[in-house]
Amino acid sequence: MSSKSEVFKVLLNQEGFRLTNQRKKILEVIKEAPDGQHLSAEDIYQKLSGNGEKIGVSTVYRALHLLVDLGVLRELTLAEERKFYELCNPLASTHHHLVCTQCGKVQEFEDASVLNLGTDEAISRGFSPLDCQFIVYGICSDCVYP
Ligand SMILES: [Zn+2]
Ligand SMILES: [Zn+2]
Repeated sequence: MSSKSEVFKVLLNQEGFRLTNQRKKILEVIKEAPDGQHLSAEDIYQKLSGNGEKIGVSTVYRALHLLVDLGVLRELTLAEERKFYELCNPLASTHHHLVCTQCGKVQEFEDASVLNLGTDEAISRGFSPLDCQFIVYGICSDCVYP
């Protein structure tokens, strides 16, 4: 709860970045989404305006990009032409995604071997790994056998 928000404050202050009220509210919306739910910029914008927040959609986009650059959020391309955002966990607990291209259902899974492979490969090439995304696109069982 508030401890998570403290972590953000520390993170953001380290980067010399002020956690404005609007940015804080964007993070709240993402934080409050149920586990496994991924929000697009439009989803976040609609939630905020639904709460009576006076915020423009371009402000939401700008804030999201900034938070991705700072490593607070993870940007996922789960569907064509649409980016989704979730909180960036420490690399050790990064999860991966399985996406149904028919209904858009997203399932999460954790597998250390994917992460180890990506991290080893990065380090062997002199990279400092920040995020490792593995997305499998497919057709879920509901869509294969309706
Ligand atoms: Zn996820
Ligand atoms: Zn499906």
